[in-house]
Amino acid sequence: MRALQMTGPQQPFELRDVPQPDPGPGQVLVKVGGAGVCHSDLHLQEWEGDMLEAMGFSMPFTLGHENAGWVEALGDGVAGFEVGQPVAVYGPWGCGRCWNCRQSRENYCEQPGEHGGMGGGLGTDGGMAEYLLVPAPRLLVPLGDLEPTEAAPLSDAALTPYHGIKRSLPKLRAGSTAVVIGIGGLGHMAVELLRELSPATIIAVDVDPAKLELAGELGAHETVLSDESAAETIQGMTRGLGAELVLDVVGNDATLQLAAAVARQQGDLTILGIGGGTLPVSFFSVPYEVSIQTTYWGSAAELMEVLDLARAGRLAARATTYSLEEAPEVYDRLAKGEIQGRAVITPNA
Ligand code: NAD
Ligand code: ZN
Ligand code: ZN
Repeated sequence: MRALQMTGPQQPFELRDVPQPDPGPGQVLVKVGGAGVCHSDLHLQEWEGDMLEAMGFSMPFTLGHENAGWVEALGDGVAGFEVGQPVAVYGPWGCGRCWNCRQSRENYCEQPGEHGGMGGGLGTDGGMAEYLLVPAPRLLVPLGDLEPTEAAPLSDAALTPYHGIKRSLPKLRAGSTAVVIGIGGLGHMAVELLRELSPATIIAVDVDPAKLELAGELGAHETVLSDESAAETIQGMTRGLGAELVLDVVGNDATLQLAAAVARQQGDLTILGIGGGTLPVSFFSVPYEVSIQTTYWGSAAELMEVLDLARAGRLAARATTYSLEEAPEVYDRLAKGEIQGRAVITPNA
């Protein structure tokens, strides 16, 4: 079968012929319906070999960590799923046995080795191929009547901001403000989620007016171009108080600085973006009692919650589908900021 692979550090992604996997005991083979194109893959491509090695990546591997499809075959001993059943694949694969994994938080698996909270598409074969081998049925969530192409982006582009927002909901009372910086694949879903989950006024920030237009359509109350005057504009919109939640979905020096400048005292500054920036923290550099955190993906239980919202018609990615052969070009367009919402590769379409 054809697969889009990362072959080595700082190499262009490559379409290659690879053997179709067979599910061993306890494993499940999934026919891929959709594999989302995430900006994290572009970061992986930029990183040096020692960074990838430290993360336990072995190359080559097939990209695609945001997957949904249909059960194709069950390995020996697997029960509870039927061939043909539509499923989302929970992306961060842990050991399944440690305390965090038992809490459904395999994204924070504490057992070294195995997958360590990485998963298919992150150092092991992912969903940008016709078939994806999933190591255990606990990593599958039934979709019911959701289509795999709609569901794929929910497993990362929605799950990651869902987790980031959910932990701050007690701070988002009526009259509060939430700022989302970066209205791409994750950010556009963050706007939808904030609209659905909180009474906060939502301010969307991006460098691209077209992304801001989408944010407005999806329910952002205010949109702000990310430039030198953005902090002042946002302060003006919040009566000089700042925002209870700032979600930085870019994470470079400029956006982190903006995030710190518009966070309210006792607010949350939550960094989802892996843009490689740093934020100096000292007594007077951030407002009092601002909590600063990075978050990585979300729990499997939260994926179920996100899928419930989508099934209820209250959450949907702005997804555009592309063939596997188009995938390299889609990544180029993502790098240039030309993708609106989420691009989804459909290897079996
Ligand atoms: P994307 O390319 O779809 O979106 C990025 C958006 O940021 C674009 O709309 C772009 O115009 C905008 N942007 C760029 N520079 C900006 C600036 N200076 N100010 C404001 N907006 C700016 O990317 P994505 O797939 O949504 O991923 C976003 C980030 O989140 C990436 O760094 C990715 O690696 C990271 N990510 C993190 C997790 C996690 O678990 N924490 C999960 C998935 C993705
Ligand atoms: Zn991702
Ligand atoms: Zn674990």
